Amino acid sequence: MMPPGINKASEPAAESPTAALSPVYGILQNASLVDYPGQLAAVFFLTGCNFTCGFCHNAQLMGRADARGLPWAEVEQLSRRHRDNWVTGAVITGGEPTLHPGVFRLVEQLREWGFLRKLDTNGSRPEVLARLLPLVDYVAMDVKFAPADYPARTGFQNIAALTESIRLIQAQARNYEFRTTVIEAWHSPEHIHAIGAWVQGAQRHVLQAFIPREELPDPACRAMPETSAATLRAYAEILRGYVAQVDIRGEF
Ligand code: SF4
Repeated sequence: MMPPGINKASEPAAESPTAALSPVYGILQNASLVDYPGQLAAVFFLTGCNFTCGFCHNAQLMGRADARGLPWAEVEQLSRRHRDNWVTGAVITGGEPTLHPGVFRLVEQLREWGFLRKLDTNGSRPEVLARLLPLVDYVAMDVKFAPADYPARTGFQNIAALTESIRLIQAQARNYEFRTTVIEAWHSPEHIHAIGAWVQGAQRHVLQAFIPREELPDPACRAMPETSAATLRAYAEILRGYVAQVDIRGEF
């Protein structure tokens, strides 16, 4: 879910000049210790997504690709306030940030304002990712499922695009991680082997627990159990056969 404590855009004001609006729909008011490895980070949310994951924790953002963003002046003011409070990193997340043409200006502004930049992506738009990679310091790409499971679980069919994004990141990102939220009903050891083979040779893969919430889009997902620590540890061990560093993120 889009967390509480967000400065977000109000509903459109008719007189707002569109050019003055950023692609940022909301900024986390407090800095995050968990969204950018090694950095105290400000988190910037962009709207809209080209996946339809039933387990999406940011579902409020999925169908809002046309939502107006915050004025640039407000983004700058909130960003500078973060910088004045020792925040060194900026996380650009969604939704899917690569859907927004304005993401390029955002990355450039964040650089000017003195932030290291991290991009979160679902990997669906390698042609945009290729242009963003030289401009960001860290990329986190979700590798949600084994390739064959993507269409049914996410509504996204273009597996070749995801493979291209994985290869681009491995070859060109300054620093990166792939990450998988483990859903016990949907991820078997065989699935984890398939994910490992897909990202083979990666520098880092992060596993995180699925946590059910009332507001998840798919009612079936709301009833699924939280991932156990034992499953996460077992799956991390499998991935260590494919990836240099495997971490479990969360409270275990
Ligand atoms: S890719 Fe991410 S933001 Fe998009 S629907 Fe799936 S979980 Fe939600």
